[in-house]
Amino acid sequence: MSVSHFSPDERDPLALAPADCGRGHSCQFCPHESTCSLDKPAHEKHLIESRLGQIGQILLVMANKGGVGKSTVSANVAAGLAARGYRVGVADADIHGPNQSRFFGFAGQRIRLSQEGLSTQAFHAEGIEHPVKVGSLAFMMETDDTPIVWRDAYKHDFMHHLVGSFDWGPLDYLVVDMPPGTGNELITLADMLEGQDVAALLATTPQEVALMDSLKAVRFCQERSLPLLGAVENMSGVVCPHCSGEFHLFPRAHLAEALAEHDIESLAQIPLSPALASGSDSGRPVVIDAPESPEAKAFAPVIDACVEHARAMFAEAAVASLDTLEQGAGSDFDAAIADLPRDQQDELRGQLADLLRQ
Ligand code: SF4
Repeated sequence: MSVSHFSPDERDPLALAPADCGRGHSCQFCPHESTCSLDKPAHEKHLIESRLGQIGQILLVMANKGGVGKSTVSANVAAGLAARGYRVGVADADIHGPNQSRFFGFAGQRIRLSQEGLSTQAFHAEGIEHPVKVGSLAFMMETDDTPIVWRDAYKHDFMHHLVGSFDWGPLDYLVVDMPPGTGNELITLADMLEGQDVAALLATTPQEVALMDSLKAVRFCQERSLPLLGAVENMSGVVCPHCSGEFHLFPRAHLAEALAEHDIESLAQIPLSPALASGSDSGRPVVIDAPESPEAKAFAPVIDACVEHARAMFAEAAVASLDTLEQGAGSDFDAAIADLPRDQQDELRGQLADLLRQ
């Protein structure tokens, strides 16, 4: 191994573990990139693993078609989870249309690069204990209307930065606003998150064309064994701002039929309403700005489903680790009590099992 020209924190690079440069950002953002000879792929891998190690449940909000309100669903699910006391981040993976900065009131703002990584923007609101952390490409662009013209290799790298380089800190939920389609970004992310606790939500509208595209996302989830918590039917009806009556722009029968056929639960019907549109424009999700509104209440079953799934996964993991602990403890224990009479062994085994389950 050649000796690095750069030694992080004045330490001898040869004394460091390959990934241990102490920097929480990718080598691509590093001022020492051209002179450092540490193991850079190992650093990138370490970054992603250490970030993911601090994140509980990852929720991918998918819609194979653009324009169905996927970003609105992502923002409101994230804000709704935060309103229930959870630590939440929103990762904006929609490279060509990063809107989460606008949905949380950070349009035009930029972020810092520090030793800890790329900073996130923190959305604070009354009643939210932990601010929603927002990470988006929008914070790194020259202007908000700069078009992104990237080949797949750049998109692949950005997906790694989104998880590994942003300083997410400990989170209960990371909501990922996915781009439309089942292309490079989704495949990269699905590969990166293999083995993590990941679930998907499907955002769609009752239009047949949106539904046809959405079913491709369903197929993707099935092929990758990604749990699909259910569908969020967006723009399912229009609420009249004068009389509050609701009418439907598109017939819902096809959607209901297709969801039933694919065994997908319809979690919520979100109306197309001025309150939702203005919430997105003003940078305050409707679940925060008007929690008692019909639009905000419509999101409640979606948030319930996310919480229930995370709890079920946690319980499953706890039982699995308890079983492992019992097996490990059991073998040492068995050796220690091998000389005792059989009835005493059984009694002590029962006491150990009770202790471990407390
Ligand atoms: S971030 Fe990468 S280039 Fe910079 S010190 Fe760490 S390993 Fe070296």
